[in-house]
Amino acid sequence: MGRAFIEKLPKVELHIHLEGTVQLELIQELAEKTQTPLPKPADELFSFTGLADFLDRLDWICSLVRNPEDVKRLAYDYARYAASQNIMYAEVITNPTHWKALSYQQLIPGILEGFDQAYEDGYTDCRLLVSLLRSQTKQESLALVRWMTAHRHPRLMGLSVDGNEAVSKQSNRVLCDAFLEAKHAGFAITVHAGESSPAEGVWEALDILGAMRIDHGVRSITDPVLLRRLADERIPLNITPTSNLMELYPSLEEHPLGKLYELGIPVTVSTDDPMLMSIDLCTELEKSANAFGWGASDLIRLQENAIRASFCDAETKQLLRDKLKIFCDCYHKA
Ligand SMILES: [Zn+2]
Repeated sequence: MGRAFIEKLPKVELHIHLEGTVQLELIQELAEKTQTPLPKPADELFSFTGLADFLDRLDWICSLVRNPEDVKRLAYDYARYAASQNIMYAEVITNPTHWKALSYQQLIPGILEGFDQAYEDGYTDCRLLVSLLRSQTKQESLALVRWMTAHRHPRLMGLSVDGNEAVSKQSNRVLCDAFLEAKHAGFAITVHAGESSPAEGVWEALDILGAMRIDHGVRSITDPVLLRRLADERIPLNITPTSNLMELYPSLEEHPLGKLYELGIPVTVSTDDPMLMSIDLCTELEKSANAFGWGASDLIRLQENAIRASFCDAETKQLLRDKLKIFCDCYHKA
């Protein structure tokens, strides 16, 4: 599949962590400002020995951000970068537990301000999903949801959860009240599952946490009954191919994305942590197209899936569909 087509295609990204979008130049600038030595030479900052090293680096990057002004800058920079990739709309996840120098009361408004400003300046329409960590307590999770409910903002779309399910086996039971409250308050629900957990984690995300879509969900591939449910109920899976190669699959050819797509499950393709993994959405789509034999119509279908799976209002969805249609009409005429 041609790179030029993928670059021009108006795209939607639904599974991306703000923590993993910080560009090297900004990291260096913040390290200098806070007089923090780099843990590695700059050109090795994005190479890792494994998942633990990766998570350490992510926390270290977040620790450089000490005030809401820097958060705003970081959010703004992401929206500007996303626009350069022709990403017309993104739902960005942040997990407040990574940002040790800031409270979520400082973090969330800072991000929303950055997204607002970027949108006004003509960059990508970014919305925010706030994520709990699997190991958080019931009390902590409820406090966050109640704060979100009291501080509504049009770009604050929903609640998420990430972290290692394998070490927090009871987390769905611990966090379910927070998810129920969030849903009643009108927030959308997305859940990381079926990556650090087997297919069972996806069942629980749907039936205990009320997930409207799943981040990852790739290990659903082992459960035919679950696959049928995902297809029948059109439950979206936001899949991040390169990120899954870190822990789960030796190569993209062995990744179940192609098969999940063929089964009629509404999959979308995202990057997870693009800067940390030295990837971008265009490359992820290009590699996936090559691995699974996808053509232009398949890549367009993925964007249609993502628009449908997004948590924005009907009017915004129509606007995104119109932009995609204008591109497709021009492409077919050319
Ligand atoms: Zn993720």
